[in-house]
Order: sequence, then C-alpha cells, then structure tokens
Amino acid sequence: MSRGRFAPSPTGPLHLGNLRTALAAWLFARAAGSEFVLRFEDLDPIVTSRDHETRQLRELELFGLDWDGEPMRQSEHLDRYRTVVQELRARDLSYLCWCTRREIREAAQAPHHPTGHYPGTCRLLTDEDRQKQQASGRPAAVRLATGGESFEIVDRLTGPHRETIDDLVLERADGTPAYNLAVVVDDAAQGIEEVVRGDDLLSTTPRQAYLQQLLGYPEPIWAHVPLVLSPTGERLAKRDGAVTLEDRIALGDRPERVVSVLAASLGLQPPDREVRPADLLETFDPSLISRSPWTMSPTQIESCW
Ligand code: GLU
Repeated sequence: MSRGRFAPSPTGPLHLGNLRTALAAWLFARAAGSEFVLRFEDLDPIVTSRDHETRQLRELELFGLDWDGEPMRQSEHLDRYRTVVQELRARDLSYLCWCTRREIREAAQAPHHPTGHYPGTCRLLTDEDRQKQQASGRPAAVRLATGGESFEIVDRLTGPHRETIDDLVLERADGTPAYNLAVVVDDAAQGIEEVVRGDDLLSTTPRQAYLQQLLGYPEPIWAHVPLVLSPTGERLAKRDGAVTLEDRIALGDRPERVVSVLAASLGLQPPDREVRPADLLETFDPSLISRSPWTMSPTQIESCW
C-alpha cells in the first residue's frame, strides 16, 4: 500500500502553516487510500523536545487527523544515518570538510559561483594539507562530492524544478546527520511514496532526489504546497499573533472552523462550511490546490474567523 507522511520538527506548537501542510499531506494520502505516518525530526536536541512532540500530537488529534502506527523519531535512528554516510565514504562519494562557518560564508560569496553554494574548498586540499587537518584533531563535517551537475525533479503541483547540486553536508562536524541526508534515509526506510510538504523545501528537493538516485532509493512523488504568510508577507511564525490551534480556540474558534478556513485557503472548499478533515475526502481534488501562498490579513490573525 502506498504511504504518505508528515514530518514536523518538535520545536514548539504547530502553527496554522504547519497544520495546513499536514492537512494537505493527509488528504493526498487518505483520498488515495494510502497509509499516513508521522516522523518527528528531532535531530537538534537544543530546539526540539518530547514535550513539544506530545503537544504536536495532541494538536493534530484535535485538528482531526489520524495516522498509522507509532510516530518515528529521528533521534532513535542515528545508526541508520551513520551507516549511509559510511557507505558514501566507502564509495568515495564524500570528503571531510574542516571549513568554519565563516570560511564557508566567505567562500560561498566568491564570484563565478552559484550564490550560497560551497565551492568545494576541502575537496581540493592537497594530501599534505588534508593530513595536517586530520592531525590537528579538529572535528570535520562530511560533504557529498558532486561534480557541479544539475538535477531536475517534477513536482505534481508546480511542475519541473531544476537545481545545481552543491557539495552538501551529510554529517555535521559534531556528528549530527544533516537534514537532507536524514530525510532521504528515512523516507526510504519508512517506504514513503509521496512527499507533500511546504514549498519552502522545493529548492532543496533536487538534492534529495539526487541522493536517492545515488543510494538506489526510489524517488517519491513530490507535491509542494505554497506557504502561509503573515500580513507583512513573511513566512508565518508564532510571534505573528494567534496562529496556533490553542490560540484560535482561545479566541473562540472551534477546530472545525480552523479546518474550514485552512481548507478554503487551499482552494478546496468555500470558507463558510465547518468541517472535519474527513469531510473533505470525498471532494478532494489535487488540481484544485491553490498555487500561490496564502497571506493572512491582520484581522484574520487577531480575531475569531
Ligand atoms: N521537518 C521539516 C519541517 O518541519 C519538514 C521536512 C520534510 O517534510 O521533508 O519543516
């Protein structure tokens, strides 16, 4: 059976943007009769916590979503990521990088280089310099060795998207697996066949598809949903006002009202019908999904809908 997923980072309560993406991912999966699983992306112990995780589960339930099996936690699968990094080392597809953040920032601004891309400084070290770095005992990150090729993915909502693949980090100097690597390893391990998520991740998706190809993993179907923006046009954040489910309930909204407004903002129904997510399944049609971001007005953010 096919399978979709929602993969929040447990860094705080889910906001309307997260809930809207979760709703879209759930609808894509359930309308197709697929399984739907959760994954907590909790590799950063400083900003993520079990308390946030418990709260997010409660919010998803209150919002009316369900999922199959126990949610997975990335922090419990560190061996899985390490094995894949070792495989890429053994295949000579990665290299150690000692650059500091500052060096990377400066190097990435060099002319004739795609903005923000790491120019492969440590890939080009002489053997002698590499040995010196290794002897210094300074911890090194592991980077993927790419040849500057570009890779195209086809998104079912937005069409083809091509990016140059840079020498992305696979494992940080402190040993933490990098986001792109962890996502690719987990999507394969969890048997995810369709990835529905916010379109802020569209630009990194060719990197993930490239890694999938290198590792012999199947490439899932991609669907990137436009984000929710604050009245100033920024990506919605908690500081913007009443943007969590609890905030909305405190204002007097029922969860069904919140589902209704978010479904309407996705283009899936008129805004005035209070619904549970399951009520949207029968008429769900991916081609209706709005292709532009949804900007909340100051009134929408501060008062009951
Ligand atoms: N954990 C990521 C986030 O909360 C989502 C990653 C993904 O869906 O691939 O933005």
